[in-house]
Amino acid sequence: MSVRKVKKMQGEVMYPRFLTPTSAKFDPVELARRTERIVCRGNKRKYTDFYVVGVYGGIATGYAVGCCLRCVFCWVGLSREFPERFGKFYSPEEAFMRLDEAARRRRVRKLRISGAEPTLCRQHLLELLELVERSPYDVFILETNGILLADEDYVAELSRFKKVHVRVSLKAGTPEEFSKKTGAVESAFELPFEAIRNLIKHGLSFHVAVMSDPRIMSAEERANLLRKLKSIEPRLLKMLEEEVVDPYETTLLRLEKAGIRLKWRRAGRCSDNLT
Ligand code: SF4
Repeated sequence: MSVRKVKKMQGEVMYPRFLTPTSAKFDPVELARRTERIVCRGNKRKYTDFYVVGVYGGIATGYAVGCCLRCVFCWVGLSREFPERFGKFYSPEEAFMRLDEAARRRRVRKLRISGAEPTLCRQHLLELLELVERSPYDVFILETNGILLADEDYVAELSRFKKVHVRVSLKAGTPEEFSKKTGAVESAFELPFEAIRNLIKHGLSFHVAVMSDPRIMSAEERANLLRKLKSIEPRLLKMLEEEVVDPYETTLLRLEKAGIRLKWRRAGRCSDNLT
């Protein structure tokens, strides 16, 4: 067998798919780079669809492919585990055109990328935001897990866009829980907090969301998380968004693979906005 073939097979085996109790921990920045090799091509990025959903009072959404975490409560499609199998490549112009078409049809004034980590494929995102900036739309909501925004240069580049509002979604309140819930190494727990510091430093519009569903976050873990946010800036607590886990089919599958059982409430909130 050729060296190339062996390397390809190793890559296929090693790429983190579902998180299980025996999964090897990964560095999310390295996983971001590996995923980018699959979902980014020059300034193009893979998307599966574009349409309007009801969250944020109506928002045109591009469903992108690829993430650098493996959250056990994640709702997005199986493109997260198998990015090579889903989506088509779109240039920033093509993605903007599809968002614009969807937004005009339903008369909404907000845009976003969802279903993936939008900060992957940096060149694509920055060029897309240039188009949004020159458009009549009010806002582009950048929903992120914050991993790549620990890079201050990236945040500095984003700060030139006045229509961007960032939503940083925190997954856990301690390094151990972060690792258990996302599959990433414990040391990566600090990266989203670094991202928040960068967003403050560069004056971006943003707020913080926390997956604080009491079924997967203890009161003690939540208290630790809130203390940490408060130590960065007390106002972060005033605009905190708290999330719950919803029983999407993909969420149920991921919880099962991770060996986690949750009790389901009768009425779940439709949250189609987790990152
Ligand atoms: S919840 Fe968000 S950050 Fe976590 S795996 Fe899903 S898309 Fe990625």
